Amino acid sequence: MTLYTSRPVVLCLSGHDPSGGAGLQADIEALLAQGCHAAPVVTALTVQDTRNVSDFRVLDRPWVLAQAQAVFADLPVAAIKLGMLGSLEMVATVVELIQAHPSLPVVCDPVLRAGGGGALGKDEVGYAMREQLLPLARIATPNLPEARILAELPDGSADACAQKLLPHCPYLLITGGHGDEHQVHNRLYGRDGLRQTFTCERLPGSYHGSGCTLASALAGRLAQGEELVSAVQTALSYTWRTLRDAEQLGQGQFVPRRLPLDFCS
Ligand code: PLP
Repeated sequence: MTLYTSRPVVLCLSGHDPSGGAGLQADIEALLAQGCHAAPVVTALTVQDTRNVSDFRVLDRPWVLAQAQAVFADLPVAAIKLGMLGSLEMVATVVELIQAHPSLPVVCDPVLRAGGGGALGKDEVGYAMREQLLPLARIATPNLPEARILAELPDGSADACAQKLLPHCPYLLITGGHGDEHQVHNRLYGRDGLRQTFTCERLPGSYHGSGCTLASALAGRLAQGEELVSAVQTALSYTWRTLRDAEQLGQGQFVPRRLPLDFCS
């Protein structure tokens, strides 16, 4: 038997998307592409296709605790990635899990909406994430609409949202993919005064799972020991390439291509 000790393990606490575009499948694929191993802990089940979400169900707290504890007891977790949590109880559950492992870097993707606009949690779940989870995270990766909800600034600029949110977490990456400018501006803010904008060409499509891809790739880079700013840059470039190569597998949004097609050859 071969024992692989070189692939960092990233524990993902995210929802399941049966279309395979977003959620845990996106996490697994993006982490594989970073040379990491994903340990996917299911927080919620969703009913959705590549167009939108029609329903979701958040798992019971004991089930999520049991899944995560099984992973922690067995595998050397190097980082934690948070995606859809869906309820206040799930936020509290995840807080408890993270507090038991305070040295691990946590990437928090504060998921509240699907790419098609359907809700994956009420705004109050976002406020609980802001108050309870962001202080435990190394970095949060909201897109601008999510940052506006978290900051309670419905028309706020990225800078205004960051000013409101930075007291809660050390680093914040506010992505600009939901805008309509010619170029996408992804803005990284640090409580230490760091301000860096990563600009890329806007791609023409609408994508399912781009936020999950970015947050997981970033967690993977951090698990690999990459320094934060460099990890953000690497994860953004990787995500852009997955969108450039995305496919319209269903009738709605394009699905990012996170792994090479010849992966098995
Ligand atoms: N997590 C789950 C389980 C989802 O179903 C979705 C979207 O459908 C998301 C997260 C967020 O997707 P995106 O990365 O497109 O923001």
